[in-house]
Amino acid sequence: MTHELTAWLTKQIDDAETRTRELLYWAQQTILTLKEPRLLGKEIPGWYHWPAVERACTERLAELAAMRQILADHAADVHRCDGGDFATGDDCPIKQQMAAPHAAQPGYRTEWGPQ
Ligand SMILES: [Zn+2]
Repeated sequence: MTHELTAWLTKQIDDAETRTRELLYWAQQTILTLKEPRLLGKEIPGWYHWPAVERACTERLAELAAMRQILADHAADVHRCDGGDFATGDDCPIKQQMAAPHAAQPGYRTEWGPQ
């Protein structure tokens, strides 16, 4: 029994958090830049999208935090997905479902597909 799915999923969450924090930083920098008085009254295409980008990033970070908690809830010493037996490997159906959206990323294994 292995824990490779857990390690791989943790990396996917880490990478997604890094990308989201970078995008959030640029959204907030752009919002600040657009508040410059010298830009008032100027035509700036797409200016109204940046608060939505900021909100989407904030929501994504909360989702990623929830994913980390779910992953922790399915750790080897607390796992109960199988109805009583402690499955400690890569056969947890919840972790397999969490991995599915990231199936195109390097290192994904077809045997991790939802059963
Ligand atoms: Zn589980």
